[in-house]
Amino acid sequence: MNCADRLSDCSNRCSTLARRFVCQTEFSESHDERHSDGVEVDEEEPLDAPSLERLREAVVSVPEKTLREIVLDLIEDMPSVGHALFKELVTVQHGELVQRWEICRKCGDDFDVSATQVEGSCQFHPGVLEVREEEFVDWDEDCHGPMDTPENRRDYPENFSWTCCDGSGLSEGCVSSTHTASGPARKRKRI
Ligand SMILES: [Zn+2]
Ligand SMILES: [Zn+2]
Repeated sequence: MNCADRLSDCSNRCSTLARRFVCQTEFSESHDERHSDGVEVDEEEPLDAPSLERLREAVVSVPEKTLREIVLDLIEDMPSVGHALFKELVTVQHGELVQRWEICRKCGDDFDVSATQVEGSCQFHPGVLEVREEEFVDWDEDCHGPMDTPENRRDYPENFSWTCCDGSGLSEGCVSSTHTASGPARKRKRI
C-alpha cells in the first residue's frame, strides 16, 4: 500500500467512525430526551420511503372527520402519540391549559398563541366588504341572483372593496397588528 492509498484508507475509516459516533450521540440524546419526558420509547423502525410517501398522500386526502377519529383512537391507545400531540396542540397561558392554535378574529388566520406576538404579524381590514356594482358587467340580479354572496366574494374578490381603505377584496390588510384569539378560550383547565 503506497502513501496515497494509506491516507485514503485512513480517512475512510475516520469518516466511518465519525458517522458512527454521530449516530450513537443522536440516538442516546433522543433516547434520554424521551425518557426524561416520561414518554414510552418507540422501538419500531421508521417506515421505508415509499410507504412514508403513500402515508403522507393518504393523510392529505383522508376526510377530516375520519382523520380526527383515528387521531383520538391513537391518543387513547398509544401514550407516546398523546404526549407528542399534547406538545403540538396544548400550551399553558396564565397558569391554565389552553389550546395552542387559535383563529385570529381580525384576519381569520390561525396562529400559535404560545409564540411571541410580533407587531405586524397580523394584517387586516377593520372595515366591511362592499360590492363594486360597476365591476359586475352585464350582471342582472333578477336573472343571475344577488351580487353580494359568499361565493362571489370568494370567486370575484376584485369586484368588492373595503370600506376602510377602498382596497379591493384582493388587497392586503390596511392595518398592522398582532393576532388576537376569537372569544374566550374553550374548555380551559386549571393546572
Ligand atoms: Zn382596509
Ligand atoms: Zn390576525
